[in-house]
Amino acid sequence: MAKNIPHYIGGREVAGRSGRQSPVFNPATGEETGTVALASTAEVNEAVATARKVFPEWAATTPLRRARILNKFLRLLEERTNELAAVITHEHGKVLSDAVGEIQRGMEVVEFATAAPTLLKGEITENVGTRVDSHSLRQPLGVVAGITPFNFPAMVPMWMFPVALAAGNCFILKPSERDPSAALLLAKWLEEAGLPAGVFNVVHGDKEAVDALLHNPDISAVSFVGSTPIARYIYETAAKTGKRCQALGGAKNHMIIMPDADMDQAVDALMGAAYGAAGERCMAISVAVPIGAQTADALMAKLEPRVRGLKIGPGTDREAEMGPLVTKLHRDKVKGYIDAGVAEGAKLVVDGRSFKMQGYEDGYFLGGSLFDHVTPQMKIYKEEIFGPVLSVARADTFDTAARMINEHEFGNGTAIFTRDGDAAREFAHQIQVGMVGINVPIPVPMAFHSFGGWKSSLFGDHHMHGPEGIRFYTKLKTITTRWPTGIRAGSEFVMPTMR
Ligand code: NAD
Repeated sequence: MAKNIPHYIGGREVAGRSGRQSPVFNPATGEETGTVALASTAEVNEAVATARKVFPEWAATTPLRRARILNKFLRLLEERTNELAAVITHEHGKVLSDAVGEIQRGMEVVEFATAAPTLLKGEITENVGTRVDSHSLRQPLGVVAGITPFNFPAMVPMWMFPVALAAGNCFILKPSERDPSAALLLAKWLEEAGLPAGVFNVVHGDKEAVDALLHNPDISAVSFVGSTPIARYIYETAAKTGKRCQALGGAKNHMIIMPDADMDQAVDALMGAAYGAAGERCMAISVAVPIGAQTADALMAKLEPRVRGLKIGPGTDREAEMGPLVTKLHRDKVKGYIDAGVAEGAKLVVDGRSFKMQGYEDGYFLGGSLFDHVTPQMKIYKEEIFGPVLSVARADTFDTAARMINEHEFGNGTAIFTRDGDAAREFAHQIQVGMVGINVPIPVPMAFHSFGGWKSSLFGDHHMHGPEGIRFYTKLKTITTRWPTGIRAGSEFVMPTMR
């Protein structure tokens, strides 16, 4: 039976009152499984007010106690990974093993955040002047918001809130309206772990809810992950309303295959990186750049049969390597890109457009597609497709390939496959991309490093989680101290200097 998916505010489920809602589907069957409430401005403001009220107490809770709650939350996630994965697969469509993988990567951020007492330590300098000391500390911002995309309904929120909560902030999560249920489980489990009611809230919605968050004066910072046009809008609006902002956008990740690369390894890597999660990953490789005609021909000879042999099925099929796309609309958009590639003269070597999943004819399935001879002028090269479509763009030299990547609008992730240390070192040094893999196709940094791209893949100054996350969710205060024996007599009217 279709269910109504509520908000989670102040420690309980709250039914939507706006009268607006959005359907949620099972992408494998096409069945409408529920509707999610879309919050009005008034509902968002109520949630923010709830969080604002409990903020002083949460901020005053010691970092060690906050960390203990996150530790308990981590144990609940470990015990209930399969339950959460099933919810993700049901609404997103990705295969269960991949859903488990995203939860694991999210849990690593929780694990990182449990080090709050260490992570929040400040700095001290004794004797910045005679008998004068300075120390710095990091304090929470207040109520912060996270606005997240459909493609990682558990992991992307977990890039944000464990760090924000560990630092003493309250959090409002506005998840994607396409797969909203995972966020509710996270909220309930946080509270079961001991998080006080109102510290973490989930408000579902669309542009209206996002705008309400952006314009609410009690929201101190906004973390966003999604497509580039919306990321740019969030960043610009947050700047106007005086909020700290990190807004991560879209991607077009290239992988260079050098003539000396192990071709079997490169092809294995490309298959997972291009077609895993049906290409709906911001770190998916969507462009392969083989260097020289021989490398390109060898690559195509090995890739083509592998793409034709992709095991596609509902996410619950343990054998499936790739599930359906998230919605019918998105599947049709990806199909449109394949049409455009053909019209522009790219060679469609494997055509996934007519793929039908037996027994799941109403699901949003698409076969894997493979293009050869894609050029930088084509729409399918310039734009993010976000589907199971790999473009092979041939280049004669390493320099040409590196230039292609550096001139591309996006700069999220990239990789090089080679045995040549010199080429790899040069690549890492000069490439204008935030996350770089050397024989690693999807170089997602671990939780104790920070995740983020360059150029139109990130607007703002801070990447997610790791040390950058701690900096983003705290403000720095520096205190200079002198006690009576250090105070000289009389007033000083010149610029203070330390003597
Ligand atoms: P999206 O931009 O459509 O939606 C993201 C969030 O913004 C959702 O919560 C949505 O409700 C909200 N939103 C949508 N339209 C809005 C509007 N007009 N005004 C205000 N808010 C709006 O993105 P998506 O389709 O859910 O996710 C896919 C995109 O996310 C891809 O471009 C992908 O590359 C990107 N992504 C990037 C990263 C990264 O780390 N850079 C990670 C994951 C996904």
